[in-house]
Amino acid sequence: MDRRPHRGQARQREDGAGRLTPEELAERLLAWYRRARRDLPWRRTSDPYRIWLSETMLQQTRVETVIPYYERFLARFPTLDALAAADSEDVLRAWAGLGYYARARNLQRAAAAVVRDHGGLLPRDPAALAALPGVGRYTTGALRSIAFGERAALVDGNVKRVLARLSAWRAPTDAELWQRAEAWVPEKDAGDWNQALMELGATVCTPRGPTCLLCPVESLCGARRAGDPEAFPAPRKRALVRTVRWIAGVVERRGRVLLVRRPGEGLFAGLWELPTLEGGDAARLAAALLARTGIRSAPAGPLGRVRHLLTHRDLRLQVVRLTDSGGRLERAARREARFCGARELDRLPLSALAKKALALRRPM
Ligand code: SF4
Repeated sequence: MDRRPHRGQARQREDGAGRLTPEELAERLLAWYRRARRDLPWRRTSDPYRIWLSETMLQQTRVETVIPYYERFLARFPTLDALAAADSEDVLRAWAGLGYYARARNLQRAAAAVVRDHGGLLPRDPAALAALPGVGRYTTGALRSIAFGERAALVDGNVKRVLARLSAWRAPTDAELWQRAEAWVPEKDAGDWNQALMELGATVCTPRGPTCLLCPVESLCGARRAGDPEAFPAPRKRALVRTVRWIAGVVERRGRVLLVRRPGEGLFAGLWELPTLEGGDAARLAAALLARTGIRSAPAGPLGRVRHLLTHRDLRLQVVRLTDSGGRLERAARREARFCGARELDRLPLSALAKKALALRRPM
C-alpha cells in the first residue's frame, strides 16, 4: 500500500499550524498527558471545592510552592462549608507566605456566597460562577472543564505560549488566544485537554529552551517548523515595576513587639505587620503610630532594610527601632494593634515581608 501522503495532506502540513486538525492535536496531546502527567494532589480528586482551591492557589504561583499550602489548607478547611464559616484571620494565616492575599479573601467570600445562594454547592452555570468574588474567566473555564466535565476553554500563561507556538503567532492578542482555545477544546475530555495544554507549557514547551524533541505535537507545531520556537510569541513589553518605599518601626515593651493589622483591601490587607508608613521618616512614623494606637515612641536608629519583589512592585522597606515612650493602646485600636510575644507571632497571619522585617529585630 502506498503510504506516502497525498498532495492535500502534504499541503496541510506545510501550510502551518493554522491548518492542523484540532482532532489530531487533541488525540496526541491527550494520549501524552495520560502517560506523562505529574501526579499532583489536586489531580487525585473530583471534588469541585478542592479543584477550585488548587486553581486559585496556582495563579501566579509555582506548583512546588503550592503543594504544601494546598495540603495544610485542606487539613484546616476540608470543605467549602468549613471555609465559609471560618474566621477570616485563620484563613489568612493558612495562606500566609503564598502571597496575593486578595485570592484568600475572595475565596472565603465566594465560599460564603456559595453557601448562602447555592446551597453549598459550586454552581455549574457559567454566569453564576463568574459572579463569585475572585472567579474570573480562567477559573470559570477550569471549574467547568476540570470539575464538571463540560466543554469549556481556559487560557493562562502556559496555554498562551503553547497556543501561540502551535499557531506560529508572533504577537497574538488575548482575544485571539481565547478564540483559538475555544475553537480547539474538544467535546469530550475538555478538563484533561486544558490540563494537558498547561502541563505541556510547564514541562516541555517552556518559555526558554522548549524541548521540542520530546513534544508529542512537534510535527504539528508551526513555531517548530519556523525553526525558532523560542521566538514565539515575541516577548511583550514588560509592565513597569513601581518602586515603593516604606518605613516600618519596631516598638518593644517587656519583650513583646507591637504589631498592627493592615486595613483596607489592598496589598497585605488583613495581615499583621510592624507599624508601617509609605514614604516618610521615623519621626513621621512615630507620629502616625501615636495617632493610630495611642502608643508614644521616638526614633532610635536604623535596624536594616528588606526588599520584596512583586510582579509590578519593588517594595523597599526600611526598618527602624522606635523606643517605647509609654502610652496605652486605645480601646478602639485594640482589635487592630497589639504587643505580641513569640507564641502570638506564630499564631498571627504575617506576610513573608513582615517576617523578614521582624527578623531584623535585635534584643535591646
Ligand atoms: Fe512547544 Fe516545541 Fe512542542 Fe512546538 S514543538 S509546542 S514549540 S515544545
